[in-house]
Amino acid sequence: MDAKFIAERKKDLEKRREELLRELNVDAEQVGDNNYDAKFVDFGDKDDENAAEVATFEKNLSLEKTLEVSLFNVNKAIEKIEQGKYGLCERCGQPISLERLEAFPSATSCMSCKQKSL
Ligand SMILES: [Zn+2]
Repeated sequence: MDAKFIAERKKDLEKRREELLRELNVDAEQVGDNNYDAKFVDFGDKDDENAAEVATFEKNLSLEKTLEVSLFNVNKAIEKIEQGKYGLCERCGQPISLERLEAFPSATSCMSCKQKSL
């Protein structure tokens, strides 16, 4: 694979990582390396306030999970670039198409494996 192409994907991934970290810090707090917990916001002690707290927490929780998984994949892709293994499908070992990597720099499987897993 072209070194320039990989350098560009790395830049994309690093930018994406910064965005994810920024989003995570809004709705969650860091509790360890690559580990975040959704924030629990205290609105008050009335029933409707408690209900709103739970709703907000559940929203933050699902958002936090999604962001955490994305961050995990982005970090993994950056690691692969550093190990010189970027762009290979984790399932079949074949190279992932450049168009796919351009659209999803953190893709870990090729299009045909991805479709099989759906
Ligand atoms: Zn594959």
